Amino acid sequence: MKEYDYLIVGAGLFGCVFAHEATKKGKKCLVIDKRPHLGGNVYCDNVNGINVHKYGAHIFHTNDEYIWNYVNQFAQFNNYINSPVSISKGKLYNLPFNMNTFYQLWGTKTPIEAKKVIDQQIKEYGVKNPKNLEEQALSLIGKDIYETLIKEYTEKQWGMKATELPAFIIKRLPIRLTFDNNYFNDKYQGIPIGGYNTIIDGLLQNVEVKTNVDFFENKTELESKAKKVVFTGKIDEYFDYEFNKLEYRSLRFENEILDCTNFQGNAVVNYNDKEVPFTRIIEHKHFEFGNQQQTVITREYPEKWTSEKEAFYPINNQANQKIYQHYKNKANKLSNTIFGGRLAEYRYYDMHQIIASALKKVNQELQNS
Ligand code: UDP
Repeated sequence: MKEYDYLIVGAGLFGCVFAHEATKKGKKCLVIDKRPHLGGNVYCDNVNGINVHKYGAHIFHTNDEYIWNYVNQFAQFNNYINSPVSISKGKLYNLPFNMNTFYQLWGTKTPIEAKKVIDQQIKEYGVKNPKNLEEQALSLIGKDIYETLIKEYTEKQWGMKATELPAFIIKRLPIRLTFDNNYFNDKYQGIPIGGYNTIIDGLLQNVEVKTNVDFFENKTELESKAKKVVFTGKIDEYFDYEFNKLEYRSLRFENEILDCTNFQGNAVVNYNDKEVPFTRIIEHKHFEFGNQQQTVITREYPEKWTSEKEAFYPINNQANQKIYQHYKNKANKLSNTIFGGRLAEYRYYDMHQIIASALKKVNQELQNS
């Protein structure tokens, strides 16, 4: 007899949702994480009453009512709407690209005027089937926006030329012919009141958890404890890099506590210029409309990933996708191991997508068991 039905490796959103649902159906789960805390990258540190998004800003948004109701079981959400601004060559622009941005760039005041400029620039560029991020951006919104607000930010963020990056990354940026600075198009958005840890605590309420446990150091022993393993770490590491290493992009966060109530007037300020080494400054209190006497800011520096660093973003170019496919084929043959989440599926997932994916996998699993 095995001690657990499922050993869940990684206490991020995927692992926590899986554990919660399986536990609800009477399964015995053990969740382990090598970090000293739970929650994966949504974990927040409480610094003088301010929830600091320790692994980068997380803003919850979804169009899916089911997923929205799902997360609302564990926390209420505030009415935060993400409206970042971007600084480029000393000037400030609204994001996403909307009527405010077009006015700031060209002085256009109506959608017809703005559309005329955009269409003209797209026509001048003339590429119909974009093959990379640069071509995609130029054929979607033209040269001015690309050069002012995309090119340098993107090349800093990814450490690669925009011509070497896949086009899909830029599809995340909506273009709007209204004066609407909401970064997301989704119906539901907000930050959980009490922070993301509240959701994690709710998900893991009846689940056995162990932190500071490195799966790979104790693999044989840990695997022997459970009927099945749910693995949410790096898929290439799981298979001992048999088909070569997958590439990731890392980030370094530089936090500062400041003795002022308001540093930048917004939660997210992007810095486009290549001369500025960070991509954005996050002022965490603004996610929760905080009125503390102090403020905490984080400068986000993109970094080359090496195996000692956190793997934040998968680099989904063709070469890596090919490597990933080999791992995926191998993973599909393992009947007692389930792979899921940003690192195990090697996908640039948002939180709502991870939850949807975890629910799908756990429901399939529970139906079959
Ligand atoms: N991006 C950009 N300029 C900006 C912000 C984003 O060109 O001011 C591009 C960049 O290529 C980035 C992508 O849009 O990688 C997605 O950015 P987002 O902030 O949505 O993603 P996150 O890094 O928060 O996952």
